[in-house]
Formats: sequence, C-alpha cells, structure tokens
Amino acid sequence: MKRISLLFILLFSIGMSLKAHKDLAATVATNAFVDSSTKAYLSTLNGAAREKSDSYFEGGYVLQVVNLFYGLLVAFVFLKLGLGKQMKRIAGKVQNVNLQNLIYVILYFLLAWVLSFPLSVYTDYFREHQYGLSNLTFTDWLIQNLQSLGVGILLGAPMVTFLYVALRKTGQRWWLWGASGAIIFIMFISFIAPVFISPIFNKYEPLEEGKLKDEILAMARANDIPAENVYKFDASKQSKRVSANVSGFASTTRISLNDNLLNRCTPEEIKAVMGHEMGHYVLNHVYKGVIEFGVLIFIVFALLNWALNKLIATRGAAWGIESISDVAGLPLLAFLISLIFFFATPVTNTMIRTQEMEADQFGLNAAREPDAEAHVDMMLSEYRKVDPGKWEEIFFFDHPSGRVRIETAMKWKAEHLKDCK
Ligand SMILES: [Zn+2]
Repeated sequence: MKRISLLFILLFSIGMSLKAHKDLAATVATNAFVDSSTKAYLSTLNGAAREKSDSYFEGGYVLQVVNLFYGLLVAFVFLKLGLGKQMKRIAGKVQNVNLQNLIYVILYFLLAWVLSFPLSVYTDYFREHQYGLSNLTFTDWLIQNLQSLGVGILLGAPMVTFLYVALRKTGQRWWLWGASGAIIFIMFISFIAPVFISPIFNKYEPLEEGKLKDEILAMARANDIPAENVYKFDASKQSKRVSANVSGFASTTRISLNDNLLNRCTPEEIKAVMGHEMGHYVLNHVYKGVIEFGVLIFIVFALLNWALNKLIATRGAAWGIESISDVAGLPLLAFLISLIFFFATPVTNTMIRTQEMEADQFGLNAAREPDAEAHVDMMLSEYRKVDPGKWEEIFFFDHPSGRVRIETAMKWKAEHLKDCK
C-alpha cells in the first residue's frame, strides 16, 4: 500500500513538473512574441516624429508646474494687489449676502479668465499649432474659449455661491457638505453634458448607414448596448486627433466617435476603438469613477478646510479675508484646490489609467483586432509619449503608454494565434 502511494506521488510529481515546464515554455514563447512584435510597432515611430511626440508630451509636465505657479500669481493679484478688495466693494452695493457673493464669484470668473489669458493662449492655441495638432483659427479658438467661460460662469457661479451658503450655515462641518455638493454637481454636469454642453462645441449625429455602422451596432448589441447610444461628432474642426469617448450619466450615457477616427482609420481599427469605448460602458466606469473621485473629493475638502482655517487665521487680515465663510477667500480657495490636485496627479492619473487598461482588455476581447489596436495606439502616440519610464507613466499618464497598450494587444494576440487559422 505504502509502495503504491509512493509510486502515485512520484508519478504526480513528474506530471506536475512536466506541466510546469510546459507552462514555462508557453510563457517564454509568449514573451518572446510580445517583445519582438511590440518592438516592431514602436520602431514605426522614430527620428524627428518620435522626438516631436516626446517633446510635446514632456512639455506638458513642465506646463503643469507652470500652471500651478501661474495660479499662485493670479491669487497674488487678487489678494495682495487689492483686486479682490475692489470686487468686494462692487458686490457690496447690493444688500443680500447671497447676491453679493454671486456678483463677487462672477467677477472672479471673468477676471481670472483675463489674468490667465496669456498662458491659455500659449498653451491651447500657439503650442497646439506649433506641434501641428490644432485646426482652429485664432478667432474660432477665441470664440470657443469664450463659450467655455460662459458655460463655466452659468454652471460654476451658482455652485460656488451655494458652497458659501454651506460655509456660513454649517460651521466647521462645511467641508462635508461642500464635498457632497461637489459630487452631486459633478454627476449633474455629467448628466447634462452630452445633451446641453457638448453640442455647443460640436455637432453630434447618428452614424451614417452602411457596413461600418452595421458592424459597430452588431458589436454594440453583442455587448448589450442600445444602438441609439452610438454617435459621431465633427472633432476635425478643432484638431487632427483620433478619439472617441463615453460620456453622460444614467439615461444620457452614450458612446461618441470623432470624425478623425472615422476618416483616418480602417474598419478594423474603428472596431478596436469601439471595443475599448464599449468596455468603459459595459464595465460601468462612469459610476465607478464617481465613487473613486468621490472619496478623493472628501479628502481634498478635508485638506482644504485645514489649510483655509490655518491661512485665514494668520494671513486673513492682510489679504482682506474676514473669515472662512467670507467670499473674499475665493481666490485662496481656488489656488489651494489646484495645489492639492497638483499633488494628487499621480493618484488621479492612476485611477483613470487603470480604467483605461480595463477598457483595452475588454476591447481586445470584444473586437478581436489586436493589430488594429496596435496601429491605433501608434496613432495616439502622435501626441502621447510612446515609451516612457515606469514612474513617468505612473505620474504623468492618464492613459497607458503606447508601449504598454501594444504589449497588452500582442499578449492577447499571442494567446489567440491558434484561433486565427
Ligand atoms: Zn478610454
């Protein structure tokens, strides 16, 4: 009996080690394939084109820091140079405190826009043209910028005024109310955006009839996405970038493809992108995003409460801020929020990048087009550094880099090669 069990153990061990050997051999073969095919794709972007893409994206790192210091300068103009006090005087001409606050907030939006104009015209207009990414004339760019300002004031000013109601009425617990309000506000904006905001800037319409539409809708049906939730929009008026997105919230959730994608890509590539967007939809990324960002917003507001109390207690008099609920503290509040989010960049980027990776994986399974996916990843690398370092990707990338995305696609391909006979 003992001998039989020994024999069994021996046979079992041999079997297991053979299996482990086979697994290892399969992994080595997959890795070799992934490595060589990814290298082949990456080598299609080299020389001046690679340098241009790297320098555009790396310039973005510098711009994030410049933006932060520029924001500090804007806060300085409001608080130290007395612009805020002038605004307070103008707002003080009405009696009602909420109306006073609303006037101050609107003036703040307008003047902050003016003060930030030199940086935004460089970043969003001249720099985009310098890298050949924008299709907008200066007038069109300015009109769009003013439209954004208008939308920002229309939606943002009442929201900030409400925040100051919470600051006055709820005492030291204002930040809990403020954070809850901010989350509801974000959900509300997401809900109305596809219907009321996006159409201000672009024309959205159903896809044209034809084979491509049939294929896309077949993929949508296969993944339980209603056909009326797939649109196209004229992004080519703004830029050459290939893109698609999932927007909206609850009943307004929809997938939109931009016309650059439809004009520049093959049907297989379009299907690969659609698979990715369907991933966001099916995996409920919008709702998961609200929960993840919701937690972050509570942390941001807690830090904001701590910093505001400390700074106003020590510097409030010099900056013309009477108390934490005084609207004169808005320029400080705005700067502190940008400062906290600046330091949270690796966290927010990682939250988004993780969802993007999940959507890629879903897309590969749904579209079954790994090479088309890799081609699109190379196209996206026109404006996103294709092969960054590990930490660089964690800190600065809100989507996986081209290299990581292609590796993922090639891994999928390697494991499915046997299906493709
Ligand atoms: Zn995505």
